[in-house]
Amino acid sequence: MVGGGIIGAALAAQCARRGMQVTLCERERLAAGASGRNAGLVVGPHPPELEAIARRSVKEYRDLHFATGDAFAFDRDSIGSLVVAGDPAQLAADEVPLASEDLAREEPLLGEGFVTGCIREARRIDAGAATVAWADEARSYGAEILVGCEARSLVRRAGVVVGVSSDRGQLLARTTVIAAGPWSWRIVRGVGFHVPVRGVEGVIAVTAPASFRLRRIIEDATWPRLPRPVTVDGLARDEAESAGVACGLVQDDDGRIVIGASLGAIGSGPTALAAVCRRALELVPVLAGLEIVETRVCERPMTDDGLPLHGPVPGASGLVLCCGHNAQGVTWGPGAAAVVAESLVSGDWDAALLPERP
Ligand SMILES: Cc1cc2nc3c(=O)[nH]c(=O)nc-3n(C[C@H](O)[C@H](O)[C@H](O)COP(=O)(O)OP(=O)(O)OC[C@H]3O[C@@H](n4cnc5c(N)ncnc54)[C@H](O)[C@@H]3O)c2cc1C
Repeated sequence: MVGGGIIGAALAAQCARRGMQVTLCERERLAAGASGRNAGLVVGPHPPELEAIARRSVKEYRDLHFATGDAFAFDRDSIGSLVVAGDPAQLAADEVPLASEDLAREEPLLGEGFVTGCIREARRIDAGAATVAWADEARSYGAEILVGCEARSLVRRAGVVVGVSSDRGQLLARTTVIAAGPWSWRIVRGVGFHVPVRGVEGVIAVTAPASFRLRRIIEDATWPRLPRPVTVDGLARDEAESAGVACGLVQDDDGRIVIGASLGAIGSGPTALAAVCRRALELVPVLAGLEIVETRVCERPMTDDGLPLHGPVPGASGLVLCCGHNAQGVTWGPGAAAVVAESLVSGDWDAALLPERP
């Protein structure tokens, strides 16, 4: 298993639970990528292909949270997200629209001018700590977790992938699973298949504890789940900086508020942060005086159709992908890991998520 984010750690645990002998290698430390720098939401909406995985994730998180004696912060029950919209068409067809006066009742601190919205099921989670808890779970079933160990290339014998060459020498396995998020393509080279996952940065600002409490999570309905790919001429025109200005606000139990995240191809500079903060102030004007204690940038593993890649790499026997969980890898991670572990045992894969799309 290559990659120690939420996907790799949960998959290591799910495979080890099923009796597989697992070695996971992570080039830095557990949750060094997006899994340790996200907004911490377990939230929809989900594409139809991932509805069951999303439900499974909540169950897997709940069970682990309970079994570990709350080793990571997690809302076992939904606290709800107030999704605000300028137009009812921005809401999903099955969402019940709220009138603007209901919005103010749901969140008295909300700014003005929001026409409608809805309440969505949503939970907060400390995804970095959850990643570590999944790795501990994997260890308890005998898995070996190697941190500070970068996989450099695939090892192939007679055309079959038999492992990776790493900082600690060759790690050989009957199946090699790449769960390296946006960096997955770097390892899968020389097999004639390009892993169609690209890194799309997001920025987040975290405030000092506020003296007020938000009643729920707050989100923009227009948050762009599928930013368009950026091209060389697009970058040259600086187009990406203007992409994806929508916002979410999540308050932790100590009162700190996570503001973000932007979603633009390179939208992580000061411009993106300024745009996110401007939008945050429109949502909740009383945020204005809060001190920022941290800003975070990280890359999300995005695919063009918004669906992850689960399954064997065409033309590369022994090699499997579990990556490309887009802007909802925390939400889908443990459910995806459970399903992929089952497929590794049975050999049956969901055709809609195979790396080579139907
Ligand atoms: C700003 C931001 C906010 C987000 N908010 C949310 C949210 O609220 N809810 C939600 O569901 N999702 C959210 N996401 C998305 C979510 O964080 C990702 O989809 C998820 O973390 C991806 O997990 P992963 O394990 O696939 O990748 P990563 O967490 O990126 O892990 C990949 C790991 O692979 C390692 N690696 C890479 N190359 C190698 C190599 N050659 N050898 C060994 N190891 C390697 C990396 O060091 C890294 O640790 C957010 C993302 C960002 C950036």
